[in-house]
This record gives sequence, C-alpha cells and structure tokens, in this order.
Amino acid sequence: MDRKRVLITGGAGFLGSHLCERFLGEGHEVFCMDNLITGALRNVEHLVADARFHFLHQDVTEFIHVPGDLDYVLHFASPASPIDYLELPIQTLKVGSLGTHKALGLAHAKGARFLLASTSEVYGDPLVHPQKETYWGNVNPVGPRGVYDEAKRFAEAMTMAYQRFHGVETRIVRIFNTYGPRMRLDDGRALPAFMGQALRGEPLTVFGDGSQTRSFCYVDDLVEGIYRLLHSGEKLPVNIGNPREMTILQFAKAVLEITGAKCEIQHKPLPEDDPKIRQPDITRARTILGWEPKVPLEVGLQRTLDYFRGRVGEPERV
Ligand code: UDP
Repeated sequence: MDRKRVLITGGAGFLGSHLCERFLGEGHEVFCMDNLITGALRNVEHLVADARFHFLHQDVTEFIHVPGDLDYVLHFASPASPIDYLELPIQTLKVGSLGTHKALGLAHAKGARFLLASTSEVYGDPLVHPQKETYWGNVNPVGPRGVYDEAKRFAEAMTMAYQRFHGVETRIVRIFNTYGPRMRLDDGRALPAFMGQALRGEPLTVFGDGSQTRSFCYVDDLVEGIYRLLHSGEKLPVNIGNPREMTILQFAKAVLEITGAKCEIQHKPLPEDDPKIRQPDITRARTILGWEPKVPLEVGLQRTLDYFRGRVGEPERV
C-alpha cells in the first residue's frame, strides 16, 4: 500500500491525537508536533510504541524542522477553548498567524498538501442561520474571543494566499463544536465542564439563561469528515459539524440524564460575545464529500462519559 508521511501540528491535543490514530490506522507514518501548552503526552502515549509514530516537541511558531519528505501537513495546533484562549491570548494569535505561516512554508518546501483546522468562530456571533461557508461572519476583533477568531480568519487568508501565489495544495475545514474522549476536563468548554460537575455531584454551570444554541459533533464523525476533505479536490472551506442544534440548557439536561446525576443547574453570567446561535449548514460536505455525521448524541455522550469516569480527580495536562 501507499504509505504517506503526515505531519500533524497540535498532534497531542484532543483532535490532533484522534487524527494521529486515524492516520496510523490507515498505515501511514505520523509526525506529531506539539509544544504541550494545551496538549498532553498522555493523549498519544498509547501510540509511542508504534515505529511509524514520531513525537516532535516543537513550537510551530518557531522555525520547524521535520526530517525527510512529507505528503501531508495538517495544522491543528492552537488553544481552542474560550478559557484557553483567554489565558493564552498572545500564543493563540501567534499560532494562528506565525504558526500557520511556518506550517504552510514547510508544506511548500516539501511539496506537501496542507490542511488548515479552521473554525465556526470565523462566523463570530452569526447573523445568518444556519451558517453556510459563503457567510463572511460577524466578529468583534477587539473582544476577548477576537484573538482566536481573527487568528483563524488570518490563517484562512494565509492559506488561500499560499494556494494562489505558491500553488500549494490546500484544504480548509471549518470545525463546529466537537466533543469526545481526550477533551481536558478543565478546558472550560460546556461538555467537559458539565460532565465533570455531574460526576463530582456539583451544580452544572449554565451561562446566561441557557437559550444560546450549539450543535455538537462526536469526534469520530469529525475525523472522518476531515479525512475525506484531505483526499478530496475541494480548495474552498468546508463546514464539518453536526447540524443537530440544541440550547445549552437542553444540553446540560442531556448530560444529567446520561450521567444519572441529580445535580442542580446554576446560572452564571454569559461571557462577552458568546454566540447566541450556531448550526452548520453541511450541504457542501454532504455533496462534495458524501459525508454526514452518524453518531447519535446519546451514544457519543456515553462514550465520552466512560472516558471521563476514569479521569475525574486525576491531574490534567500530564
Ligand atoms: N457554557 C455554559 N457553561 C459552561 C461552559 C460553557 O453554559 O460551564 C456555554 C457557553 O457560554 C456557550 C456554550 O456553552 O454558550 C458552548 O461553550 P463552549 O465553551 O463549549 O464552546 P463555544 O461554542 O462557546 O466556543
């Protein structure tokens, strides 16, 4: 079979580690690059024994070096939860801008195909619903989320420039809310927050009145969509996410049901610029990639719960 050499930046993170697994599973050789500021070696330790897996402890915003040829570069390095990018605003801006530049430069030098992990945050607090790829978004550049949103918007522009100017083969995936094993319990996102609270018997912290909506995709579905996009000929951004939309209050109740916990719901202030609605329009993914999500919320939540049960009380970021 045709073994490819693949670099995954942010490979020790939540999504990156699942991608490392998938590419190894397909018989490829994987270079997992991470500076471990939000990723964790624990996420990839089960892969280390595989001779086709290589861990590179490097910061993608510095000059990056990978020995030998590369066929694919997948740029997934970035803080990705609101708490992380509020704590690491400069690193978030740097990895989306300088890091994307370095990863694109590497792809160009190696003649590799490049895939950018972009985000539904490029749509900001959207005025169009559901969000299609043709929507340009409603982002506050100077708000607290601006560091992530603008870095990813810059990253998309840089990616298109490398495609148009240098002829690099590029793909852009706009990732909507995704959940699953290997999220960090302390990353502050709704799912790990609610599951951690339910497992510890604490109140579930719903921000605002909980009427804001999100649409949650299980990680295996997302990885399948990304894998198909990489192998497709599509050069423009493609949304990958699950269109099943719900309010955050409904989501908190779904977590209570799956865990069987009897915790209260405690309302906390809504963070600044928190998008009021979010749902992907996945028409392009359906037609171009023949992809759609398959894992029902209840199944995905159960698998994630099984993972978190073993982790509550253990130190994070190890
Ligand atoms: N949220 C919440 N309680 C929490 C964490 C998040 O109510 O403990 C809300 C948050 O305000 C947002 C939604 O859940 O409306 C999803 O938040 P998350 O941080 O998971 O991702 P986002 O989609 O905002 O990037």
